[in-house]
This record gives sequence, C-alpha cells and structure tokens, in this order.
Amino acid sequence: MSIYLEGMKILVQRRILQEPVDVSTKRWYFKVAGTNNQYEVLIGENGKTSCTCAHGSLYANFLCKHIVAGILLLSGTGMNV
Ligand SMILES: [Zn+2]
Repeated sequence: MSIYLEGMKILVQRRILQEPVDVSTKRWYFKVAGTNNQYEVLIGENGKTSCTCAHGSLYANFLCKHIVAGILLLSGTGMNV
C-alpha cells in the first residue's frame, strides 16, 4: 500500500485524535492513533515535519503515513470520504 493510501486510511478511520492546533505560528500539531501507540506529528509552514513514530524519527525528511494524513487533513483532501 502506498504512503498516500496509508495516510488516507488514517483519515477515513478517524485516527487523528485532535484537530491541528497552533495555527497562529504557522505550525500544526496533532496526535494520531497508531496500532499500539499514539504519535505526535508536527507540520510547519516551511515544510519541516516530524513525527514520533519510528519512521518519522529515524529519517529527517521521510514522510511517514501519519505526516501524510496530517497534510491531507490540512489540505482538505479526504474530508468528504
Ligand atoms: Zn509517523
């Protein structure tokens, strides 16, 4: 399954636990429910992203499915699925 579809799946299953916050500083923070853990995702306006899952912390520029889900949510994609 592609990372894009993985991200969509998270949205469809409503596994984003809180709405993105901290809009005033152009950074969005939220939590995503994983299989066994809860992950914290940060997306900045400058394109910098981070996630507390294994993939997100191991690879600085790697977009894990949690970050993809957040980007999809912020862009409005997937809100009507
Ligand atoms: Zn992640």
